[in-house]
Amino acid sequence: MGPKLKIAIHNNRKPNTLKAVNYLRSGLQKSGFRFDNRHPDIVITVGGDGTLLSAFHRYAAQLDHVRFVGVHTGHLGFYTDWRDYELDHLIDALKVDSGQSVAYPLLDVTTTYKNSREQAHFLCLNESTIKRLGSTLRANVYIQDSFFESFRGDGLCVSTPTGSTAYSKSLGGAVLHPRLEALQITEIASINNRVYRTLSAPVVVASDENIVFKPSPADDYVLTVDQLTLNHRPIEKLEYRIAKERIHFARYRHMHFWDRVEEAFIGANSHEELS
Ligand code: NAP
Ligand code: MN
Repeated sequence: MGPKLKIAIHNNRKPNTLKAVNYLRSGLQKSGFRFDNRHPDIVITVGGDGTLLSAFHRYAAQLDHVRFVGVHTGHLGFYTDWRDYELDHLIDALKVDSGQSVAYPLLDVTTTYKNSREQAHFLCLNESTIKRLGSTLRANVYIQDSFFESFRGDGLCVSTPTGSTAYSKSLGGAVLHPRLEALQITEIASINNRVYRTLSAPVVVASDENIVFKPSPADDYVLTVDQLTLNHRPIEKLEYRIAKERIHFARYRHMHFWDRVEEAFIGANSHEELS
């Protein structure tokens, strides 16, 4: 394949990003690659994990044939393998591309609205949350169509394995290896008393199990899908499952997942010889 690949570059507007994008664009051009923002084979994102998330949503309808590559111009990311000073390496890897990729699970959310049969579908790379700001959110939680708990609090989060290092982690969720096909539910400030009782621990469900939230009637819920916020009409039901679509990354080299977690969150300085 190599230079026959059609490339799209998706980037944020930070000055060091723009510099990297100029360098990348002219390097790719010299190597004979074509650019096609509408129907690319490869989407190169330049920026951070947030930049990759926004590219994912832009190309969500083309996941069956698009592969992503993430370049980071800030700190090490989870969707971004390449540093801005490695762009020549990246171009060389693209030249000898043979279609290699790694795929990760995505979250499918179906919302059913009150007073109508209408449903909407959303695809998430990190997570979806339902929150209420003014007063508490109340919702019954079902796993595999069976009642699990009554939640009352700020909100609930359902995340993908690759999203487990994002919002879910801040909510006390476990970090999941992205090879696992599993969804994780985390609570946002649950109230626990005799009426509302939750497990008060993150829950990881198996790949074939669906999760349902039925919130109490209210019209001020906020639904989030990755970085997008949707202020919604009254929701009757939210249903979560692993999507049939997956995201594909063009993988030209491998970084061990736990090394990445360590590098991103713990840092090389904390290593101490134990005696
Ligand atoms: P943002 O507010 O700039 O992102 C928050 C941080 O999350 C950024 O440092 C971002 O990295 C990082 N991040 C995104 N995806 C990640 C992942 N899979 N693993 C580890 N870190 C990740 O907004 P954004 O950049 O558009 O990202 C949206 C995401 O922010 C949401 O999907 C949610 O996961 C996260 N978020 C977190 C909290 C929280 O932890 N309290 C609250 C709201 C949203 P970059 O700087 O590289 O972009
Ligand atoms: Mn960001």
